[in-house]
Amino acid sequence: MKKAHLLRTLVAAVAALAVGAAVAGCGGSSAGEPTTGTTTTESSDPITLVASLNQWGSLAAAIGGDYVDVTSILSSTSVDAHDFEPTTADVAKLEKADVVLVNGAGYDTWADKTLASGATRISVADTVGAIDGDNPHLWFSKDARDAVAKALLETFTKLRPDAKDTFQTNYDAWQQKETTLDETMSSFADAYSGDKYAATESIAYYLMSDLGLSDATPTGFAQAMSNESEPAASDIKAFQDLLNDKGVELLVNNSQEENDTTKELVSLAETNGIDVLEVTEQMPSDYVNLTDWVTALVNEVVSDFKDGQASGDEASASATTDEGTASASSSASASSSD
Ligand SMILES: [Zn+2]
Repeated sequence: MKKAHLLRTLVAAVAALAVGAAVAGCGGSSAGEPTTGTTTTESSDPITLVASLNQWGSLAAAIGGDYVDVTSILSSTSVDAHDFEPTTADVAKLEKADVVLVNGAGYDTWADKTLASGATRISVADTVGAIDGDNPHLWFSKDARDAVAKALLETFTKLRPDAKDTFQTNYDAWQQKETTLDETMSSFADAYSGDKYAATESIAYYLMSDLGLSDATPTGFAQAMSNESEPAASDIKAFQDLLNDKGVELLVNNSQEENDTTKELVSLAETNGIDVLEVTEQMPSDYVNLTDWVTALVNEVVSDFKDGQASGDEASASATTDEGTASASSSASASSSD
């Protein structure tokens, strides 16, 4: 399975981060310059960074602060992200950037077609060793967020050494938020590890994995969705049976890529009292920061499972479990306020 492959590469590639950053840093515009990118950026000019996706752009803005001018190309939750075509204006932005931040893993190959000479390219997929064919929804992986934040810190520091301390301070603040999120996910995983979910598309695979949940999506259906083909009637039937049997605690629905089949599955889940987590490809406009968005999704899962325990399985919900998730959830929501 692709998933097993990527989990291995995720682990291996965090260690390989330094290599990825070094590759991203090649291509100085003037001879003999070992440093990254446009080497003559005046100290008063912000670094211009163009991100293919708004969720990664938000992470670049968090680390770069006032020293980095971030533009994100895909930022709407109502376009088909997997089949996006950039406009000529989008291409022009990419061509002028000092730093281009792409997701990779086949998700946004359009963003890789134009790179100014001397520009620095950071590929999320490269930082974690993901390749085409792996699950590309890397922003939901804590390992990928962590690797990209480090790559951004290194790149910005190379381009603007005078702002080194600011980048480090911004990185530390981001890291603190991410650590709080990580603690919430760990205490959830302690309580609910192995519980099952199903998904209309594999969008939240890494997030569910970080939460310790187990993917029970019928295999044929999952394969059809990842190939962007129509699932067979028998695959849809298997999914319907799963929901009717209440074989999962949660249905993850990609509301940015929905169709008649997924809409029917959502309403079937609702009929059966199964909670539905709506997830989009891009970060919705009510968030300014990737970690806040992921935290909100995690808090929703935590509260769905706690409600499920309270109404259904009181006997199996121990007092310690309830206290653990309650304190983790409240500390996460406190830190996610702006
Ligand atoms: Zn997707």
